[in-house]
Amino acid sequence: MLAGKTALVTGSTSGIGLAVARALAKAGAKVMLNGSRPAAEAEALRAELAAESGVEVGYTPANLADPASARGLVETTVAAFGGLDILINNAGIQHVAAVDAFPDESWDQIMAINVSAVFHTTKAALPGMKEQGWGRIVNIASAHGVVASPFKAPYTASKHAVVGFSKAVALEVAEQGITCNALCPGYVRTPLIEKQVVDQAEVHNLPEDRVIREVILAAQPTKQFVEAEEVAAFAVFLCSDAAKSVTGSVQLIDGGWTAR
Ligand code: NAD
Repeated sequence: MLAGKTALVTGSTSGIGLAVARALAKAGAKVMLNGSRPAAEAEALRAELAAESGVEVGYTPANLADPASARGLVETTVAAFGGLDILINNAGIQHVAAVDAFPDESWDQIMAINVSAVFHTTKAALPGMKEQGWGRIVNIASAHGVVASPFKAPYTASKHAVVGFSKAVALEVAEQGITCNALCPGYVRTPLIEKQVVDQAEVHNLPEDRVIREVILAAQPTKQFVEAEEVAAFAVFLCSDAAKSVTGSVQLIDGGWTAR
């Protein structure tokens, strides 16, 4: 479906990003991986994806908290593949704590990685997409892009920002063959969620199995985690020509969470 296309997936050495990168490669796109895993592990993943998909897969270990590195990641991808058709802004971090106890440096990190990096990569990717008259930007926001949870004020603020940013970008480039959408998952069991289980257990003073049932999946009517592969399949669709009229949208894949 995406043969001949080139893609960059930020934060793709783990969780949702890895599933999206794998699905894009299987759909035929050349994929640049990025993330903060040790180099040997990242190389093993790169080789695995290349072998199973038969397409070119690269890896660039840019730290997205740094604006120049975020821009450089796009430039490296364009240099490696000769262009960039698909940008998946997926990298994100979370920290769970009450606002009045929230560490300043965690707020800064969340904003730098979850919000500012999305601006910097998008800014760097758009000129090439405009020139070729085709582009797909999928920003992995969250159900927290449209609703809120206590103890997650900075994360909630960051994901609402990503939703607003996605809509504005979509309007700007609507006549140029470029779409930009926010894809908003509910709870997906990834390393990010494993950390939250530990954090929430501390905040609520509950054992971890009760946190999963009573705190985390309490919000999700299906009472099941969303699979990373489901998010990946949705992202591939948004990147396809069939989704050319889907832009500026907020796509929820949240087990019914936000229907409440
Ligand atoms: P994860 O922790 O498994 O993966 C995060 C990825 O981001 C990793 O590849 C990590 O290396 C990368 N990353 C983190 N900081 C980075 C940095 N400074 N520079 C470069 N890469 C960096 O998390 P995940 O659950 O797969 O989350 C992926 C995205 O999905 C995030 O934006 C997250 O907010 C969002 N999301 C997750 C869930 C969920 O339930 N897991 C739900 C909704 C939205």
